[in-house]
Amino acid sequence: MRVTRSFHIGSVPIGGGAPVTVQSMTNTDTRDAAATLAQVRALAAAGADIVRISVYDEACLPAFGQVVDAAGVPIVADIHFRADLAVGALERGAAKVRINPGNIGSEVKVRMVADCAKAHGAPIRIGVNSGSVEKDILRREGGVTARGMLDSALSHARMLEAVGFTDIVLSLKATDVPLTVAAYEMAAAQTDYPLHVGVTEAGLPGDGNIKSAVGIGSLLLHGIGDTIRVSLTGDPVPEVAAAIDILKACGLRRNYVNVISCPTCGRTSVDVTQIAQRVKRELADIRVPLTVAVMGCVVNGPGEAREADIGLAGGGLAESGTAEGGYAMGAIFERGKAPQRVTGDLAGELIARARRIAQEKTQGKR
Ligand code: SF4
Repeated sequence: MRVTRSFHIGSVPIGGGAPVTVQSMTNTDTRDAAATLAQVRALAAAGADIVRISVYDEACLPAFGQVVDAAGVPIVADIHFRADLAVGALERGAAKVRINPGNIGSEVKVRMVADCAKAHGAPIRIGVNSGSVEKDILRREGGVTARGMLDSALSHARMLEAVGFTDIVLSLKATDVPLTVAAYEMAAAQTDYPLHVGVTEAGLPGDGNIKSAVGIGSLLLHGIGDTIRVSLTGDPVPEVAAAIDILKACGLRRNYVNVISCPTCGRTSVDVTQIAQRVKRELADIRVPLTVAVMGCVVNGPGEAREADIGLAGGGLAESGTAEGGYAMGAIFERGKAPQRVTGDLAGELIARARRIAQEKTQGKR
């Protein structure tokens, strides 16, 4: 795990070994406070720890303040170029500001923003994208490189450091996944600022999920990344589920149900898809680590279930998956217990037993 500075974004700690948090960003018109607040609430309900909102002109500020007051999660102001908007957002309760000091205009304005952020206990994120690297760096590097992206970020950071401000978060997002990973790896090796990790303009859901999972996931597996954002075109709410799934896959969020299911094949003797979907849906509220396996047959069922807390394999212990009379048959394998034959509503039986295990875990009996 990388050692970083630590501070807070509102009530949420970042860096210093704090849990990796999930961020997203609204895409409503910020001036429409009701619509923006509704989206912030939807993102928070989906599991976002922090939400970012664009503040692009003065008319955004009153609505921004209203949203901050009612949001219930820390709100970050996303600002380009204008120190006055950064100050306005901080005065209205922004928990963090994303602004690049090199774009503000003068040292006086940089100091004004830094002093205001410090007075309000808010960090500043410096966000470099592959498209925002300065021309002189591009000339020196012969194009966009990890070195160039990091130099750009560090040159912005130096302006804040020069006015005594160090509660800085860095991001170095590229659209290219290997470049993104290389830039963050270099930043992790050369700075101790917490890192906001993401692949920028990752695209539509589907392609974007895969790019984000590969880029963010490979960094997280190497202990790099303090807060993450999956960027998907369209409704931002699915970004949150995607980010949480990345954290779960990296072993960084464990208090959920992990459904293991086989890919199915010619031996499949129960409806694995339907059972696995129902298990995932009906156990979605569980907040203890619980692994549930759904396997199409007994060939791999017992082996997989050994890793799981509980598993179902189609086909009973030796017979086919459909008993005489046409009802489904399977075997439930519970860790530490002898396998048990079940018939009829296999999914319902599995869910009931899994819920009992979850309850025992909650009560500390397991
Ligand atoms: S668990 Fe059984 S049904 Fe599922 S893929 Fe493996 S062999 Fe096929």
